[in-house]
Amino acid sequence: MRSYVFPGNIEDSILQIGGKPFPYMRTEQFSELVKDSEKMLLDLMHCPSGRVIFYTASGTGAMDAVVANYVSQCKKAFIIAGGSFGYRWKSLCEYYHCPNEVFAVPFAQDIDYAQLEEAVAASRPDVFLCQHHETSTGQLYNIERISEICKKYGVSLVVDAISSFLSDELDMEVLGIDICITSSQKGLNIAPGLSFLFLSPKILETTFAHRSYYFDFAENLKNLERGQTPYSPATTIFLQLHARLKIDISLGVQQIIASVRSRALYFRSLCKQNGWEMPVEVPSNCITGFFVRKNGDILFKELLKQDIYIMPGGTPGYFRVSHLGVQTTEDLDDLANRIKDIENR
Ligand SMILES: *Cc1c(COP(=O)(O)O)cnc(C)c1O
Repeated sequence: MRSYVFPGNIEDSILQIGGKPFPYMRTEQFSELVKDSEKMLLDLMHCPSGRVIFYTASGTGAMDAVVANYVSQCKKAFIIAGGSFGYRWKSLCEYYHCPNEVFAVPFAQDIDYAQLEEAVAASRPDVFLCQHHETSTGQLYNIERISEICKKYGVSLVVDAISSFLSDELDMEVLGIDICITSSQKGLNIAPGLSFLFLSPKILETTFAHRSYYFDFAENLKNLERGQTPYSPATTIFLQLHARLKIDISLGVQQIIASVRSRALYFRSLCKQNGWEMPVEVPSNCITGFFVRKNGDILFKELLKQDIYIMPGGTPGYFRVSHLGVQTTEDLDDLANRIKDIENR
């Protein structure tokens, strides 16, 4: 099996942890593992004095937690919606009855930042919700520009960095981001099932709302003091997480990003050679989105028959290939050849 989705191909050393006996979590040893993981995560996210809440939930669970505990007590949210993940912020705000305004961004395009500033100045929101990388298209937004606008108008910034974490540069402290979220099966490339909510030192001084029992920030933060989660965590994934973080810390963020980027650039050169249009204005290193010229209706299923997974893109003929995980240039050559074969049938 070759995976170009999330997670990607995983090293045997990490996969095998999934076959080991499950540890009991109410022990000092497990607490140490949680505390150690928190330190490493804060380091990788450049959020030295913040905290990380661990949820046994996919990334949407962490998005839900942000809206229930924080956004629900704000007066007005401002949402960047350039694809399905942006609109997920919108539907969460609707669910919790949070007043909000959407700034729609067309498919695969960057934000017009001058227009954005005008819209923020007119809207005067108190919280800004966006993605760093809108994974449904592959577009990366400029968080530096967004951060400048938020600082200028005194807006609290929340970034869904689920698919940009460890694939594109992001410095939570320098950018003044209040809350960031990520999850286990994207940049960390381990089993799905855990999500991570990073809280800046500034936002930790806030009194949060209590609108979600399981996701309650205060309850989770209290338990975290002793390295525990309030409810049974996905222990096996925590073991994989710890092993992954040790590797990532020893490599360093820059090197990890550089290797994801080199794979992305390599695959994009193959797309160019094959005449596959790449519509994204500013692509993330995380994925490459491209249109095949023919047989887009059968491509996904035909690759599946060969035990190869890529992501359909929502738009007809549009596909996405992830560059996270274990992936060589030979793998990418092979993938491009197989796509070409199906296209030419
Ligand atoms: C994967 C992802 C999510 C979370 O989706 P789940 O289905 O809950 O894992 C949220 N935002 C972005 C940008 C993502 O890429």
